[in-house]
Amino acid sequence: MMKRVATALFALMASQTLLAQNFDDVQIKSEKINDSVYMLTGMGGNIGVSAGDDGILIIDDQFAPLAEKISSSLEGIAGKKLRYVINTHYHGDHTGGNAKIKHMHDATVFAHDNVRVRLENDPKKEAADLPVVTYAKGVKFHFNGETIHVRHLPHAHTDGDSYVYFEKANVIHTGDVMFNKMFPYIDLNGGGSVAGYIRAIEIILADVNDDTKVMPGHGVVATKQDVENFLNMLKETRRIVLDKKAVGDSVESIIKQGLGEEWQSWAWQFISEEKWIRTLYDGR
Ligand SMILES: [Zn+2]
Repeated sequence: MMKRVATALFALMASQTLLAQNFDDVQIKSEKINDSVYMLTGMGGNIGVSAGDDGILIIDDQFAPLAEKISSSLEGIAGKKLRYVINTHYHGDHTGGNAKIKHMHDATVFAHDNVRVRLENDPKKEAADLPVVTYAKGVKFHFNGETIHVRHLPHAHTDGDSYVYFEKANVIHTGDVMFNKMFPYIDLNGGGSVAGYIRAIEIILADVNDDTKVMPGHGVVATKQDVENFLNMLKETRRIVLDKKAVGDSVESIIKQGLGEEWQSWAWQFISEEKWIRTLYDGR
């Protein structure tokens, strides 16, 4: 008995050490998108940045142990105050830094109403983790000479998604409504839906032209063509799965048959072909 407890404890400690080491190894890289817009990558969702005379606004903040590194990366872009944070949705790899960032910079965190509700209902979260200003449909920031539109997308990746459109710079941050060149994660238990996800990409595409730079939630900066390819993949793989479902194939049988050679390159570490098929099969 003692031995089993000790083994379990050891496993827990080992995994925590591993996690800490993983964060220690993470480097925050900054990519310039235009004069005032940047993208930071580290571990977790891509961070969008507006930096200029008015200060700094960021879109998402990855994980708490990365807050210092994110702050020094922002310091490297502009020695200005971090004033605003927008959470594109509630997931921990996009909101994990909220409490620390608030504490370090006295910044105000904005998000859709449901982001706050979901974080509030998570027993592991504290008041400091929650967004302070919430909205139902969206909000606009008039900041650094830009109009930054934040717009809610209903029932897509979750039930609290927003995307962010920099009008002058012609840059979009999609949140997790786009994974560039990868099968997406759709949080069906968090209010997401496959049909809503497809609708969300169509809504975003209406703001995209040939010169638009699109920061996805995960993956490299995308072009209009990448967004169209992503939408096409969603529609085509959904059609494959729903056609088979309609003639009575079980999900296990569809997994065995696979989606075909054309879609293999979209599978990755977290969303394998099997996981994507299960999402499409269940995903309304
Ligand atoms: Zn997410």
